[in-house]
Amino acid sequence: MTATIASDELNAALIAGVIPNLGSYPHGQLTGIHSGKKKQGTRMLKLECPTCGMVIRTTKTWLEQTGQPICACDGQSVFEEDEGGE
Ligand SMILES: [Zn+2]
Repeated sequence: MTATIASDELNAALIAGVIPNLGSYPHGQLTGIHSGKKKQGTRMLKLECPTCGMVIRTTKTWLEQTGQPICACDGQSVFEEDEGGE
């Protein structure tokens, strides 16, 4: 056994190099899948097309930045927020 010495250094390098990258991952939080709890933070809004009934989900951020989405069923129906979602 002659090449096992580097493990501590490697671990330190991995921790120093990888963890900060994970911390800045642009997706936001990825935790919660295994906790059994409802996700915190991003709240998905349920939007429904009043014409065809298609349902989509997005976040308030997108509605504020991009505006209400328009359905492809007729190219002009605006998805409306469905307050009765789960
Ligand atoms: Zn539609």
